[in-house]
Amino acid sequence: MTEQAPIKVDMEKIVSLCRRRGFIFPSSEIYGGLSSCWDYGPLGVELKRNIKEAWWRTVVQERDDMVGLDASILMHPQIWEASGHLKGFADPLVECKSCHLRWRSDELENSNCPSCGGELTESRLFNLMFKTFIGPVEDEASVVYLRPETAQGIFVNFQNVVNTTRKRLPFGIAQIGKAFRNEITTGNFIFRSREFEQMEIEFFIKPVTDKEWFNYWLEERLNWYVKLGIKRENLRLRQHTKEELAHYARECYDIDYLFPMGWSELEGIANRGDFDLVQHASVSGKSLDYFDEESKEHFLPYIIEPSAGVDRSTLAFLCDAYDEELEDGETRVLLHFHPTLAPIKVAVLPLSRQEKPVTVAKQIYTDLRQQWMVSYDDAQSIGRRYRRQDEIGTPFCVTVDFQSLEDEQATIRERDTMNQIRVPIVDLKTTLQAKLEGESLFILPPGGSIWKVEREER
Ligand code: ATP
Repeated sequence: MTEQAPIKVDMEKIVSLCRRRGFIFPSSEIYGGLSSCWDYGPLGVELKRNIKEAWWRTVVQERDDMVGLDASILMHPQIWEASGHLKGFADPLVECKSCHLRWRSDELENSNCPSCGGELTESRLFNLMFKTFIGPVEDEASVVYLRPETAQGIFVNFQNVVNTTRKRLPFGIAQIGKAFRNEITTGNFIFRSREFEQMEIEFFIKPVTDKEWFNYWLEERLNWYVKLGIKRENLRLRQHTKEELAHYARECYDIDYLFPMGWSELEGIANRGDFDLVQHASVSGKSLDYFDEESKEHFLPYIIEPSAGVDRSTLAFLCDAYDEELEDGETRVLLHFHPTLAPIKVAVLPLSRQEKPVTVAKQIYTDLRQQWMVSYDDAQSIGRRYRRQDEIGTPFCVTVDFQSLEDEQATIRERDTMNQIRVPIVDLKTTLQAKLEGESLFILPPGGSIWKVEREER
């Protein structure tokens, strides 16, 4: 009998599992680490890749109205002048006069150092962009920035995309890439780091349709997380107040996830109006007007931006999948990953290390790995091997025993239920395919909507 153990996912458990099983390591560990930088290990890289692929598939591959882009990280410095980052992308910084720790003053609850109680300096604005130099001379004229968001690479390529594709409004450009922010306070594992990845959409529309498209993307993006297994009660929408609204935004909502440290932003969805195209047209001196063939009008499109973090999504999927069950007096730790996201889809485990079952198991392994990430393991007891696969979220294990040599059948064991079925070896691939796809099928309730977004009229 399997009993449900009451568990609370705390961050330490997630960090320790990630470290122990090779999902995520501290960066530069043998040199003592580098603050707030993380390396994705053999399983982490698969998980992250699957998240990015699932996003790309949903927002680019399966849509007529979206194309992809991969802009360079280093861009012309005037871009950051036009975007407002040079002036406005700054947090208020204070430093403790005793222990010299630095803090964001807008996040402090009292006026003394939260670490030692010491006196704090006056607050000053600290720009979060990393600077570097292009070319051999390190002077002001050669300063460039590591992009703090991928979005600007999309805005400045808007005309290139219009001119080279047949896309007409409404349409979007999607991009996945690294972004860098010299955050004052970091922490909470991969939630806030100085180097991270974003998955951003800039969706270009006719100005009068902004309300409708804004609502559409709120709903669409919420649904994406739920389809991939995040529990809906762990997600919420939070509207930005007028005071916190960014300078470019007409309206903004965060999709928050209930992380171990509390509700925090997973993705931001903003109505940016025509702010970005106006700015880039003005600073570059180039017209970025769009010509609408129907109305024969020239205008600057409005933009709806759903901006998600790859690392924050990875953390949310890990936290949401984490589970502990009491199984015959022992704790079974498992990750209930959606099959689309699981780093390893199938593990092939011969029950014996003797030549014959091993040969059959290796044939199965060779065959299945053409289709999926599959692992092969013949060390230790079968119980321990199952536990290991449960802990890394592998949805299916295939075991080969002596009986298999006679009846040419193998056993499929399911991670979540631990149910086992016996299947002819020739049918393994199609059976696993059906199971992996069947479980990937998510059926929306009538009306096609998970959430009815409640929001105030503007
Ligand atoms: P926060 O308020 O948490 O600093 P933000 O509002 O500055 O986030 P955005 O500028 O809206 O974040 O960036 C879009 C997305 O990029 C965020 O929703 C988040 O998923 C991701 N992101 C932003 N900063 C970081 C960071 N330092 N580390 C990891 N992911 C980040």
